[in-house]
Amino acid sequence: MTVTVRFAPSPTGFIHIGNIRPALFNWLFALKTGGTFILRFDDTDLERSKEEYAKAIEHDLAWLGVHPHRIDKQSERFALYDEAADVLRKAGLLYPCYETADELERRRSRARALGRPPVYDRAALKLTDEEKARFEGEGRKPHWRFLLPNHDGDPFTTRRTDVSWTDMCRGSQTIDLASLSDPVLIREDGTYLYTLPSIVDDIDMGVTHVIRGEDHVANTGVQISIFKALGAEPPVFAHHNLLTTRDGEGLSKRKGALSIGSLRDSGYEPMAVASLAVLTGSSQAVEAVPTMTELGTRFDLASISRSSAKFDPEDLNGLNAKLVHEMPFSQVQERLFSMGVNVAEPFWLTVRGNCSKVSDARTYWQVIHGPVSSAVAEEDREFLAAAVKLLPEGDITTETWGEWTSRLKAETGRKGKGLFMPLRKALTGMEHGPDMKDMLPLIGRQNIQARLP
Ligand code: GLU
Repeated sequence: MTVTVRFAPSPTGFIHIGNIRPALFNWLFALKTGGTFILRFDDTDLERSKEEYAKAIEHDLAWLGVHPHRIDKQSERFALYDEAADVLRKAGLLYPCYETADELERRRSRARALGRPPVYDRAALKLTDEEKARFEGEGRKPHWRFLLPNHDGDPFTTRRTDVSWTDMCRGSQTIDLASLSDPVLIREDGTYLYTLPSIVDDIDMGVTHVIRGEDHVANTGVQISIFKALGAEPPVFAHHNLLTTRDGEGLSKRKGALSIGSLRDSGYEPMAVASLAVLTGSSQAVEAVPTMTELGTRFDLASISRSSAKFDPEDLNGLNAKLVHEMPFSQVQERLFSMGVNVAEPFWLTVRGNCSKVSDARTYWQVIHGPVSSAVAEEDREFLAAAVKLLPEGDITTETWGEWTSRLKAETGRKGKGLFMPLRKALTGMEHGPDMKDMLPLIGRQNIQARLP
């Protein structure tokens, strides 16, 4: 079987670190199985869906390294949904209902007051043609419900009807269709709710695996029934846990700061974001993984935990630093150049261990080219004057620092911090930073001499 998966976001906002988990899970699954990954915009809500958001989602995915094999928009596929709705109507499985939202709410409260589950009683199935015509005459438009197969021919006598599937994340799952209301598939205004278009597309596009958040578990029993009613074999399902903050709060309130766009703008590496998103809430250690292929080897749907995936956005800093510390020059050269840091490989290899973000390299660029502010302490003045005289002749190489400090030690008797620190501060304006032995050749003789008193 060739695997086909899809990521189906609604382009009604920017995506955040929680929303990219299904995208990454689907992408890694496709990568590992040689399957096809479809980006399918769930944009049937024409009012709320915006092209701007769809473009931003595509851009965010590309930045993360997710490159869809195919991109579709549900708003361009209405004819298919209309066709499927007709098939269901003809089979008597999609029926018109005229209750208003208020009427339905009153019925639900009544049922609750009587201690009954607030399940729709299928009253609309009893409507005669005259009654329907009267409603239509009053200007009411029907919404359409799917008749769940939870009865033996008489829809008013339901019986326990278990729908089961083996979920690749959650194991064996069962939903009793008798506990559910017939789902509305089409609203009064003729627009589709998410359910039918999603199923029609999954069938039409040959989707073999549906990997999505566990907020959809409850819908799955209904969806399996609709797949079957349309004569299709349901796909394999996998419902992953949802990302929350450490104290268990959902991401909705913090999604601005955690949007992929703002994480990108804050200078985080895509693989730091992807590593955190994929490995959090699984049995794997949360580590910085440098490539998608390697992340694929650590990822397994079955290793996703059943409890929520708690994370701390602060963890991104450590993961990011880890990636930057080991990043090859070829991967950053262009980015450094675009930041005005036009350097060769030795610069990057010298400074990367002190950078938490690639953009930190600017600090060391500044240190090398100056000016640096280096207030010299009075007690170091004489020592630094000696240093100017003892600076070895010839090219400044990675050997120079060792030679220079040995001479200084012999001459002044200073050692350890008392020896290195005044030099470091005078030459870099900082108390910490990359190895001085590597910094010296980058700073160069002229700057070294100019920075010593
Ligand atoms: N648009 C739906 C969502 O974002 C898609 C769910 C699905 O993958 O079936 O939750």
